[in-house]
Amino acid sequence: MSVYQHCINPNCSKTFGVDEILHRCPSCGELLDVQYDWNKIAAPKNLRHFETYWSQRFQPHRFSGVWRFHELLPFLPLEKCITIGEGQTLLRQTHRVALYAGLDSGGLFLQYEGLNPSGSFKDNGMSAAFSHGAFVGATRAACASTGNTSASLAVYSACTNLMKSIIFIGSGKIAYGKLSQALDYGAKTIQIQGDFDDAMARVQEVSKQLGIYLVNSLNPFRLEGQKTIMFRVLEALRWEVPDWIVVPGGNLGNSSSFGKAFIELHQLGLITKVPRLAVINAAGANTLYRLYEQEKLRWNGGHYDKTLVQQFFDTMTAEGRKASTMASAIEINRPVNLSKCLRALDFMNGVVREVSEQEMADAKAQVGAGGLGCEPASAASVAGTRKLVAEGIIGKSERVVCILTGHQLKDPNVTVAYHGTDKQFFTDVLGTRGVKTAEFANQPVSAANNIEEIIRTLQS
Ligand SMILES: *Cc1c(COP(=O)(O)O)cnc(C)c1O
Ligand SMILES: [Zn+2]
Repeated sequence: MSVYQHCINPNCSKTFGVDEILHRCPSCGELLDVQYDWNKIAAPKNLRHFETYWSQRFQPHRFSGVWRFHELLPFLPLEKCITIGEGQTLLRQTHRVALYAGLDSGGLFLQYEGLNPSGSFKDNGMSAAFSHGAFVGATRAACASTGNTSASLAVYSACTNLMKSIIFIGSGKIAYGKLSQALDYGAKTIQIQGDFDDAMARVQEVSKQLGIYLVNSLNPFRLEGQKTIMFRVLEALRWEVPDWIVVPGGNLGNSSSFGKAFIELHQLGLITKVPRLAVINAAGANTLYRLYEQEKLRWNGGHYDKTLVQQFFDTMTAEGRKASTMASAIEINRPVNLSKCLRALDFMNGVVREVSEQEMADAKAQVGAGGLGCEPASAASVAGTRKLVAEGIIGKSERVVCILTGHQLKDPNVTVAYHGTDKQFFTDVLGTRGVKTAEFANQPVSAANNIEEIIRTLQS
């Protein structure tokens, strides 16, 4: 077998075919990877090889920002890979945000994943998981979601008609921009009377019973698609590796896939330098930060301290601690990809930080003022960069890439609350979350319906 699923537990290391539908290792319960035998698959000799595809953009697979890198995620033949035009993203150098973060003016690059068809990075992974699901013959796909995964699944379903989509959400836990997408795209939407963890538990049971294909974060094929975010970052930097990749951490799929991308690029001799990784938690959902920075949990060649992790979650259950942050996309206390993220942090000499609601809100306003804009969770990357520069961990003159994971319009309530003059709205939406001030607010001005008065406001 030149492509297979592989258990990441070094004491187990069992392998399974790519035609099997598994969510964890059936033998030990650990996460599964998609692995390639590069002795049997011809990998490109250098990264500039991918530039030869630029002139073939009329072919959907060469146009796709995911599948033009198919040779680095060849788990299916190219003709079986599904594309709706994902991955047409931008790496944007932003002077204003660089200065805000404390970097030299050319040092900060924002990788804007909000430009994907459903407005978040999730489409990179969904194109891969959706392809796998259709390949194994599934007719229905499901996920539990804080919003963006469901929007992404729904759009693939609507565009291709290959699998019907079913989404499970916790009640009141989804930003309207995201919910509206799932409804518009025609996904069967089930609102569970519970939170994300409840929705996650139910979707797994129902899918198992009814044989529905699951596209949640455990799905190892999703992470294959997400590797291409890093390939596009390198492409935009003309294959020069930056010093840092900074990403918000929720279920830790992105950080895990970035680590896998660099492990493989390094193994294939396509890069010599590996960037450092910074994963940024919201302080209200800071499991990774506590385990990695406070408890010093480490990958340890795959032999990480599972007892420590179990005790941590048991204590969390006993204390009834729930994740709480306005950044709903990272409002997760039990990240499913924890072990793979530890591997990524190990390989990329990583650090983890937590940022407050205030820090995220201010960073989000700065990102918006610099153009493009993002949803609250995405701003954690910029807030985290600022913190790491202040600590001297990131050098002032280093080159930093922050991943803007989701589009600005996903969650307009937070944005309007921050900028608005309606103090009550500010208090209701942000105050309860611990945002006390709006230093960078761009307040709308009210004026009477009268030309002189409007002119007066423009002159003041
Ligand atoms: C899903 C999501 C995240 C969290 O990513 P993980 O891979 O789960 O860590 C962050 N930001 C946005 C906008 C998301 O949709
Ligand atoms: Zn195993």
